Amino acid sequence: MQAHNDGRFKPGFTPWNKGRTRATDPTLDNIAKRKEGKKRPNLSGPLHWNWKGGKTTEAMRIRNSMEYAQWRAAVLTNGGHKCALCGSTEKLEADHIKAFAEYPELRLDVSNGRALCAKCHRRQKWATRKRTFTAEHRAALAEAQRRRWLDPTKRPRRGGNGAP
Ligand SMILES: [Zn+2]
Repeated sequence: MQAHNDGRFKPGFTPWNKGRTRATDPTLDNIAKRKEGKKRPNLSGPLHWNWKGGKTTEAMRIRNSMEYAQWRAAVLTNGGHKCALCGSTEKLEADHIKAFAEYPELRLDVSNGRALCAKCHRRQKWATRKRTFTAEHRAALAEAQRRRWLDPTKRPRRGGNGAP
């Protein structure tokens, strides 16, 4: 009988589950069954490392609201029901000139909206996304290096998420 693992790696120590799989070991299968389909409260919501403060829910609530529908209609009317960039009158959408995500206070401001066709809208969105992603990404990397999670003198591994 092996000594109970205290959680630290010890050279030469064989983990109890080594070489066992769900298919061959009833104990592992039982553990897996117990965990299946269950939420892990320590890994979801605000405790998750990538939690962004309930953004999705909040944004969805706004986008589905009556006010938002009115904002959208007003923007299309103001734009004369044609695309502000190419003049197309097809598949018109209301675009936020200052991004929905970056300027919450301007989300329902009619002067922050313009009519764009689906094609131009998509192009604009990608331009914004590219810009904000780069800024956030750079900040995250700087933070990681400050905390020495990443060694700035090391070259990134191919396919890894190291610093550029
Ligand atoms: Zn257009």
